[in-house]
Amino acid sequence: MAYLNVEGAIKRYGATTALNGVSFSVAKGEFFTLLGPSGCGKTTLLRSIAGFSQLSEGRVALDGADLLAVPPHKRDIGMVFQDYAIFPHLTVAENVAFGLKARKVATSVIRDRVAEALATVRLSALSERLPAALSGGQQQRIGIARAMVVKPRLLLMDEPLSNLDAKLRLDLRDEIRDIQRTIGIAAIYVTHDQEEALAISDRICVMDGGSIEQIGTPQQIYGQP
Ligand code: ADP
Ligand code: ADP
Repeated sequence: MAYLNVEGAIKRYGATTALNGVSFSVAKGEFFTLLGPSGCGKTTLLRSIAGFSQLSEGRVALDGADLLAVPPHKRDIGMVFQDYAIFPHLTVAENVAFGLKARKVATSVIRDRVAEALATVRLSALSERLPAALSGGQQQRIGIARAMVVKPRLLLMDEPLSNLDAKLRLDLRDEIRDIQRTIGIAAIYVTHDQEEALAISDRICVMDGGSIEQIGTPQQIYGQP
């Protein structure tokens, strides 16, 4: 059963066609990866689902309802960015609380939810620190906690590990997968790294030049488990 359904997505920037009729479905709880070289349209696709960008043509449905008709801030979608996009002047806990405060959630509920999210990403001990005092891996954990704390319907991650060194990349990759499985949230993950896609995905969507070349499990695409 499709949970997210993208159909005939086309995005033109003037003479450039960033997405050339892309269709795919993501199941509930599935870890779905968009894999392809720089410029193939991965970020454009993610931004269109999140609402930061508008498709020229096409339809997107989430849980049976038209998603494109919903204003971006009401889509209930969590997003994790390559450059963390956290607020430098706010503490770790304040960064994670930001989305809940914006939604006017009660203070006691915010406290509990933030504590829970920080425990999930193993940042509880650092909750009162400023981000600059933290490593890149810890800063990205803030980004993950901030995206999850609002209990979104869908989690979008745009190259979340690209700015980390090799060791951290492996550690955080496993953690992201564990968290996603534990929570059971549907996730779309963007990467240009084939090895990463193989290790983390339920299914991989291979893209090139704004089109889908292939969709399948790592086993189906690369003959690996
Ligand atoms: P990827 O995320 O796979 O690197 P993008 O989605 O960023 O690819 O870009 C797909 C294509 O669309 C590229 O040719 C890129 O230059 C172009 N593009 C992306 N954003 C814009 C924009 N705001 N204006 C014009 N062209 C854009
Ligand atoms: P990413 O590193 O995520 O692929 P880019 O560096 O390609 O992002 O793009 C950063 C920003 O510039 C995005 O908002 C994207 O839409 C915009 N952009 C990308 N390519 C172009 C382009 N050819 N012309 C204008 N804007 C672009």
